[in-house]
Amino acid sequence: ALAVSLRGVTKAYDNGLMALGPLDLAVRKGEFISLLGPSGCGKSTALRLIAELSAPSSGIVRLARREGTPQPGHVHPGHGIGFVFQEPTLMPWTSVRENVRLPLKLSGVPKAESRARADEALASVGLADFADAFPRELSGGMKMRVSLARALVTDPDILLMDEPFAALDEITRFRLNDDLLALWRRLGKTVIFVTHSVFESVYLSQRVVVMTARPGRIQADFRVETVEPRG
Ligand code: ADP
Ligand code: ADP
Repeated sequence: ALAVSLRGVTKAYDNGLMALGPLDLAVRKGEFISLLGPSGCGKSTALRLIAELSAPSSGIVRLARREGTPQPGHVHPGHGIGFVFQEPTLMPWTSVRENVRLPLKLSGVPKAESRARADEALASVGLADFADAFPRELSGGMKMRVSLARALVTDPDILLMDEPFAALDEITRFRLNDDLLALWRRLGKTVIFVTHSVFESVYLSQRVVVMTARPGRIQADFRVETVEPRG
């Protein structure tokens, strides 16, 4: 089954700039793919289109919808996307737990439940002991973990990550790579991971999609064979 399908998708911004496409891409449920490509080729644009934060100029973006009826007071299951940006964009004036809880709060999840789920998400990224800390007390890698917890707290089907580890030092980045892989194996989510690092793309993902320079189209799309089982 497909998690995401893009067919003939293009994006021209208001200034007339053709930023992307035409792009054809089908991502299977549970797949971990990397998008590699030169700066400005439209990788972030592609993620925003998939997240329905922006509309394509032409073509079709289709997401698999969850079955079942949304329960009142629960996160709407239809919009099953978690987004992680390169900048963790945490609210500095409030605790780590409140930062992670925000998407649930906005969906009207009751306080006790949203706190419990925020703490669970924090534990899943190794930050169980930091729920009451403030963002400024955390290192860059830890802030990224908080951002990942916030993306996972709604239990999305699809996790979109836009160069999440690019600003981190190499050792922190290796640890995050390993922890992200372990999480992916455990949670079985579809992951679309934008990176500039060929190493990272091959290490993390089952499939690497290489894009051309702007407007980005697909130049290569290959499976990564590994010795180890990958979920
Ligand atoms: P469904 O019948 O579940 O609605 P789709 O109509 O989305 O599925 O897809 C039908 C077939 O087309 C599937 O086999 C899928 O792999 C393939 N497909 C869908 N989107 C694309 C795409 N962007 N590029 C290539 N093949 C695609
Ligand atoms: P990438 O993520 O691959 O670096 P982007 O998707 O950010 O590429 O951008 C693709 C192209 O679209 C770039 O040339 C960029 O300058 C342009 N662009 C991105 N966002 C906008 C916008 N809101 N308005 C106009 N041009 C944009």
